[in-house]
Amino acid sequence: MTVGSSTVGCSMAGSIGGGRYTPRRGRTGRLSDRSTDVGSGPSVGGDAPRVLCIGGTGQNGATLLTRMLGRVPGFVAVGELGYLWDKGLVENVECGCGVPFRECSFWERVGAEGFGGWDGVDPQEVLTLRETLSLRGRRLPGWLSLPLVLEPGLWPQYRRSAQRYAEFMARLYRGISRVSGEAIILDSMKRPYHVYAVVGIRALDLSVVHLVRDARGVAFSATKVVRRQGAIEGELRLRRSPFRSGIRWMWVNAAFEALPKTGVPVTRVRYESLVRNPREEIARIVRSTRERVGDSELGFIHDEGVDLPPDHLVAGNRMRLLAGLQPLRREDEWRAGLSSRHQRTVSLVTWPLLRRYAYVGPGGAPGSGDRS
Ligand SMILES: [Zn+2]
Repeated sequence: MTVGSSTVGCSMAGSIGGGRYTPRRGRTGRLSDRSTDVGSGPSVGGDAPRVLCIGGTGQNGATLLTRMLGRVPGFVAVGELGYLWDKGLVENVECGCGVPFRECSFWERVGAEGFGGWDGVDPQEVLTLRETLSLRGRRLPGWLSLPLVLEPGLWPQYRRSAQRYAEFMARLYRGISRVSGEAIILDSMKRPYHVYAVVGIRALDLSVVHLVRDARGVAFSATKVVRRQGAIEGELRLRRSPFRSGIRWMWVNAAFEALPKTGVPVTRVRYESLVRNPREEIARIVRSTRERVGDSELGFIHDEGVDLPPDHLVAGNRMRLLAGLQPLRREDEWRAGLSSRHQRTVSLVTWPLLRRYAYVGPGGAPGSGDRS
């Protein structure tokens, strides 16, 4: 019996971001056309860009998964693309390859292909759109965005912002697709508003991995103080209380539970399964994109860890900057690190989905989360 891991998909017509699309299978047998008319950039011709988005909460191992998949021939790992505009264009943080974003030749070519050069992009416009979609611009709690993410038409400005945001992403995907030789683009921008916005892009061959991790592990990681991406000395990322982590975990995962209704193929993967059975899980994800993978392509996975070369991840956690053999940890230090009271609080808040994913309850040993 498979618990907490599934591949679901359907080919119904749907409406996201105010547009309608009807997936159609081309001669390669893959979804190759959608009729939502976004993307005002130049046409690249040829096949639609292929994109694999990773969705989920923070602290769920998305950067590790992205880099592992990036080792498979035919895939290109680029990180949290929704942050390219500020982390890359404005803050000029270090690319995964080790040089500042503006000096990375990969990204320079992407800018030229997608936008005629980065000077043709106003990063502030995209940042304003992102603030609207996340509701941060209005200082509202993130969970309030859930109904809007699912039904953007509830607020016309929200729908227009999602469409405009999708236009930027469409041009970015086209640029990456061209520069990478039409590889499958691994976008680890996990946020629901981002994934739902790109679902509406016309002529995009999109699939999604819904990456889940035990809510108590996520909550424990979120209590740690770490340096912000690209931050100057002493600037720390905000910590989140276990209760708030639990609330966030619930609504974010609920958003991705509803994603298959849009017609996009969604594969659910548990982080705990990924680190314990990396070969099986990577192969399953690759197959979900209608690609094949053999043992030789998975040679980077060793008993001691995974061998990762430098990538061009533009944003993501600090793991994006590490190269060489990286150990796969079970990441269950939350059992000892998170107090019993906080474990109970998180379990109570997240119970329905914690049980659905077999982290608790009769479906599995408490907290095991690896019964795939
Ligand atoms: Zn680079």
